[in-house]
Amino acid sequence: MPSENLTKFCSVCHKEKNITEFYKAKDGTHNRRGECRACTRIGYKISYDRLKKENPNILRDIHLLKTYGITSKEINTLVKEYNGCMICGRKDPGVKEKNWHVDHDKKTKTIRGVLCMGCNTGLGAFNESPEVLRAAITYLTEKKLAIPMKPKKVTRRLKKIQNYDLRDIIKEKGTEWFENEIKNIRAWKPKNAL
Ligand SMILES: [Zn+2]
Ligand SMILES: [Zn+2]
Repeated sequence: MPSENLTKFCSVCHKEKNITEFYKAKDGTHNRRGECRACTRIGYKISYDRLKKENPNILRDIHLLKTYGITSKEINTLVKEYNGCMICGRKDPGVKEKNWHVDHDKKTKTIRGVLCMGCNTGLGAFNESPEVLRAAITYLTEKKLAIPMKPKKVTRRLKKIQNYDLRDIIKEKGTEWFENEIKNIRAWKPKNAL
């Protein structure tokens, strides 16, 4: 019998419905679930609402459990235990940030710690590399050039260019000039670059 003609009674709403109105299940009659799709969805919604009432962070917790195997409550405990961000010590995850970041080591698949958003972004910007971070410290403390800043007065001509709309400049100098400028900017490298 083709499956589209098969019907089945829903164990929850007791309505007779086409078999396609039931989610597939290995052990159910005609390999379908006992309750219809609509009732299944209502069931999920009820259990979700109940879980959300018990724990407003349920969705984040599901994500955290799936990814790291810990919950937001455990993260908060870690934050308390280590007095805030484990790098900078701030007591909140960042301006406008709701959640602390779980920093993990991709190689060893371990949780390294809990960080504020800024420190987490910082680690990422430095490729999570102790060598580059050490080089950054050397740069900040010893290697810095410390050239005194002497802001110069911009001539009227340059000021005019500054206030110009870029479209006007391109119109005046041509697209070839503009493309060349872009090429030069892209090719520019600071001296002594790493
Ligand atoms: Zn039903
Ligand atoms: Zn921090």
